[in-house]
Amino acid sequence: MLNPKDATLIQKMHKRFDVRFQHLMEEMHTYIPALDEEKLTKAYELGIEAHLKQKRHSGLPYFDHCLHVAEILVELHMDVPTIIAGLLHDTVEDTDVTLDHIREEFGDTVALLIDGVTKISSLKLKSQEARQAETFRKMLLSMAQDIRVIIIKFADRLHNMRTLEYVPEKKRPRIATETRDVYAPLAHRLGIARIKTELEDLSLKHLDNSSYKGLVKKIQTTKENRQQYIRRVIEPISNELKDHGIIAEIYGRPKSFFSIYNKMELRKRPFEEIYDLLAIRVIVDKIEECYYVLGLVHSLYMPVYDRFKDYIAMPKVNGYQSLHTTVVGPEGRMVEIQIRTKAMHQMAEDGIAAHWKYKEGGSHDSQFEHHIHWVKELLDRQMQEKDPGDFMEQLKIDLFQDEVFVFSPRGDLFKLPRGSTPIDFAYAIHTNVGNQCIAAKVNGRIVALRTALKSGQQVEIITSQNQKPSQDWLSYVKTSKARHWIKKILRDEQKLQTLQIGDEILTKFLKKYKLTSESPEVQEVLPKIGFQNLESLKIAIGRGEFVVDTLIKKIFPDEQEKNIPKDNFFVKFLKRARSDTGIRVQGMDNMLIHFAQCCQPVPGDRIIGYITRGKGVTIHRTDCKNMIKLYEDKERIVDVEWDIDHNQKFQVHLSILGEDRRNLLKDITLMISKQEINIINVYFHVEDMYAHGSVDIEVKDLQHLTKIINDIRKVPGVFAVERVEDTDKLAKSEKAS
Ligand code: MN
Repeated sequence: MLNPKDATLIQKMHKRFDVRFQHLMEEMHTYIPALDEEKLTKAYELGIEAHLKQKRHSGLPYFDHCLHVAEILVELHMDVPTIIAGLLHDTVEDTDVTLDHIREEFGDTVALLIDGVTKISSLKLKSQEARQAETFRKMLLSMAQDIRVIIIKFADRLHNMRTLEYVPEKKRPRIATETRDVYAPLAHRLGIARIKTELEDLSLKHLDNSSYKGLVKKIQTTKENRQQYIRRVIEPISNELKDHGIIAEIYGRPKSFFSIYNKMELRKRPFEEIYDLLAIRVIVDKIEECYYVLGLVHSLYMPVYDRFKDYIAMPKVNGYQSLHTTVVGPEGRMVEIQIRTKAMHQMAEDGIAAHWKYKEGGSHDSQFEHHIHWVKELLDRQMQEKDPGDFMEQLKIDLFQDEVFVFSPRGDLFKLPRGSTPIDFAYAIHTNVGNQCIAAKVNGRIVALRTALKSGQQVEIITSQNQKPSQDWLSYVKTSKARHWIKKILRDEQKLQTLQIGDEILTKFLKKYKLTSESPEVQEVLPKIGFQNLESLKIAIGRGEFVVDTLIKKIFPDEQEKNIPKDNFFVKFLKRARSDTGIRVQGMDNMLIHFAQCCQPVPGDRIIGYITRGKGVTIHRTDCKNMIKLYEDKERIVDVEWDIDHNQKFQVHLSILGEDRRNLLKDITLMISKQEINIINVYFHVEDMYAHGSVDIEVKDLQHLTKIINDIRKVPGVFAVERVEDTDKLAKSEKAS
């Protein structure tokens, strides 16, 4: 089957790789006693053959990469199918080997794993953001199927990053950026610290090489001094532990280049001043011993206030557990100390990968379920989010943030990203609690909803049936869950509002022509004016994008007037009663008409007239509160209709509630004047930390008014905009008459 040339090449490969492969299997034996060596060897041989003539950028045989990937997976103590899939991970994509062949030879699991890895292969999308979002999506999908896929992919990426200097220079930044932004955060979220740290350091090496080199050099030159100092700190601790019969491993912990680099950038401080370069780790057997060691350390060195963290009682979202404290060491230098058990340590280093070691029994522990749950939830949300930018934004929130811990009044513990507000907390309790959150108490005192929560606080949420999420919330929530629901409800709400307004306007207009929106005439004309259905027409009208007149003209192209039913006594009067005020009044010509100041009707509102002796007719909205009284005088009530000409303007009073921030008033007035609306009067004052505004404007009609109200609501910091009735005003004016 093989030609002699290939046979020699295969022999050469064996010579080159056999020792490494033997070593790999020996390592596996240490944690898998009944190892299927035969199957592994078969995979090894297939890998060599499949990639026989391919070379890496480094010039090495391609299989070198595959073996490295398998070796990384063995370091993580992964199971046999994962190691086999690691050896063969590039065969389906890059060689003649088919997935079916893999399935026949190695079974469904290995085939599923290799298929998953193949599907994640990088995409050639244009924008970096779209590409990253797509890579993430594929990773989540494959993880949801089998989390081992992502672990193989991590090992693959890790070796590719270790050998990135051989890749053509212009390709490197893209790969390094993707590693930093996609792979490392995911590894972190899944708790695989050893992979995360190396990926970050390697991406830094290629993205900012001079800084990286500088750091390496500085760490080298200060190494001796640092180690000496650490020994001085450790010695008393070791002695004390020995005296108390506690067996512990204590060592100085190297900090990653990437984390030092980030701290220097963040704090704008030179290397010398990043104090937590000094870090010590203490590893013990039992949880009780962790706290014991902590007490001991604190009796030897003074702890730094506010730097103690108990991640044992409250693990991080990625499952990380440890005690952290910072103490003042000799010469007043700060030393960070981490204390944890062996099991916690392993979980901190290997994260989700650690679960395979205990998988034999078949059941996963709760931490594992927690990870899987996170992946599935994220995937769920991702399906709903159409904008890749939004998805990335949410994902980054989930991946990067530190946490605060707060309590419900019942004492339940909630973990939230740093900077979370009572609204985030409310959504963490339940979506409905979030949606109806109107106020919050922190440690018994009412606080503003935008207040950032701190660890240890007790938070109580006050809800109201009438409350709805506001646009403004988006500017200060931190959790992706809260953001998702607020956005969704705002969108639904806005759509419903627009639909209702559109429906009202349409119905009102059609009524004049004795039509309803269900009439065949209307249905027929819909496609001609470019609408697929009634709903989209109503939304367009509601948004102010479509004028109903256009529809009427289509239905009655020739003589519009003729089609108005002539025999209607009422209509006759309407026509006669045209007046300059934009109102037609039943049975009365040249009426003195004015608009009620209480409810300030605008075209589009349902209206009613009230005859005021000596003054003419006052036009009210039918839902004006004052009308309840006025209806008692039935003989004074008169039907009226709108009859507006285009230049007419109507005055409306708006009440605005917003945050007390600089330029709020300016932003609102700017938004109003952009709509070419006259502002008649503006008044703002601050009360209880809120800005209360009162604005009088002139609008054309209800559509116009709705649009401007919606626009003002979009101004950052605006909580509520309402068209308000002034009941006092009317009570006065009507009583006087
Ligand atoms: Mn690969």
